[in-house]
Amino acid sequence: MFGAAHRFSLGRFDILVVKDGIEGRTPLHAFVVSIPAELARQTVYMLGGLTVIDTPDRRILIDAGNPPWKRGRTHVASTVLGRLGVAPESVDRVLITHGDLDHVGGLLTSNGRLSYPNARLTMHRALWRSWQRPTGQRANARPGSNPPDGLTDLLQGRVDCFEEEQEVLPEIHALPLPGHRVGHTGFRIVSGGETLFHIGDAAFDPIFLERPSLANDRDTNPAVAAETRACLVKRAIAERALVVGSHFRLPATGRLVPAPHGARWVSVGHPAADPGPQ
Ligand SMILES: [Zn+2]
Repeated sequence: MFGAAHRFSLGRFDILVVKDGIEGRTPLHAFVVSIPAELARQTVYMLGGLTVIDTPDRRILIDAGNPPWKRGRTHVASTVLGRLGVAPESVDRVLITHGDLDHVGGLLTSNGRLSYPNARLTMHRALWRSWQRPTGQRANARPGSNPPDGLTDLLQGRVDCFEEEQEVLPEIHALPLPGHRVGHTGFRIVSGGETLFHIGDAAFDPIFLERPSLANDRDTNPAVAAETRACLVKRAIAERALVVGSHFRLPATGRLVPAPHGARWVSVGHPAADPGPQ
């Protein structure tokens, strides 16, 4: 499955979860050092991508996917979105979960221009601040977590920031989810009585929601990320929210229901649009 998508509606919004990677399993022990015996053979899927939200007034993206130069990946802006009828010029807002290259690399085209020329960006102030600093001085920086060269300059005057949970667009709230990277944030979308949590990389795979205390060593601060997940799971259950994760396998959406060990993930929906092979 290369560049497939899942389309569904949430209240007045039309939502499209787009994948830009090649589907493949990774052993859970690639992320978790101290793994419980019963999960020793567990595998997870790691697929990147972005989410398109069409509201009656505007077209919004959550993240921008991989950069055009990353081998083995589809550049969603120039390939998949075109086949799905989403013109880059039609996007007027990009909400950023965090600054890893597989989430923001797609903001640039292969010739260094902005992929979404008419879009303003919304991100956590701590992330935007860190992008203003020289590469070596960025908070929680990791290899691959720096913005592509030239991006910060191109974005001057186009970025709106938040620092805490707040409405950033009508019916869309930023939901800071600390632990993964500096300024890591999810988005809580409520429309027509339905609720969706886009949780970014708070969990790479639903197994991390079923077992929130499972420490993911790819998180900058695994202990804080585990605490964040525990709160997130409780809230998603309480609000009966639909949940989508940036790297979840399609349909990538599901609900959490209470279970003896904490929560159980129930997948919802099915891939409804496949733009075909690249
Ligand atoms: Zn990621």
